[in-house]
Amino acid sequence: MTERQARLILTEFGRRMRVENYIVATDGNLSIRIGDKIIISPSGLAKDRLNPDDFVVINQEGQKIRGSRSPSTEWPVHTAAYQARPETCCVLHAHPLYATAFASAGLALEPPFLTEIRDTIGRVPLVPFAEPGSRLLAENLRPFLSESPVCLLENHGLVATGATVDEAWFNLERAEHFAHILYLKKNLLTGE
Ligand code: 13P
Ligand code: ZN
Repeated sequence: MTERQARLILTEFGRRMRVENYIVATDGNLSIRIGDKIIISPSGLAKDRLNPDDFVVINQEGQKIRGSRSPSTEWPVHTAAYQARPETCCVLHAHPLYATAFASAGLALEPPFLTEIRDTIGRVPLVPFAEPGSRLLAENLRPFLSESPVCLLENHGLVATGATVDEAWFNLERAEHFAHILYLKKNLLTGE
């Protein structure tokens, strides 16, 4: 994939995250890794209104290589994900409603009773809270990513990774869908 193709794909997936209600306002961020370069969304802008040229190129240390904007404040989460799971080529961070509700209740998504979850993402662990954009959040995330390609961030949202953009997207979709079903199941069983 060329850098230009990555910019076009990221523009499209930023829009999709908003269309699917996985983010609101200026929330969320997304990146693609090409070799040792990371093309990442700019900070503080609505991700459904980005132009391909708004994306910023950084290295694994978070230093800007190219771009007029500031990179996402969550760049430490993105670089940590690429290091923790070396096959990863795409990282998506969003605040989907049901997954974030579980993350705010302090609950992991478990057990993976649906076969399509068991056979793909499995249990979705909960990463202990740290301030958004902090190095501590990235450090907290690292060990959980070796366990699972998608993780909840306590009181915040989720991070989904994949070897391809589609895989990261499917992991995000699956986690949110699982959270929704888990929520409905819990309510049915408690008779509410
Ligand atoms: P950025 O706009 O800096 O990427 O931050 C959005 C976000 O979701 C922080 O967790
Ligand atoms: Zn966030």
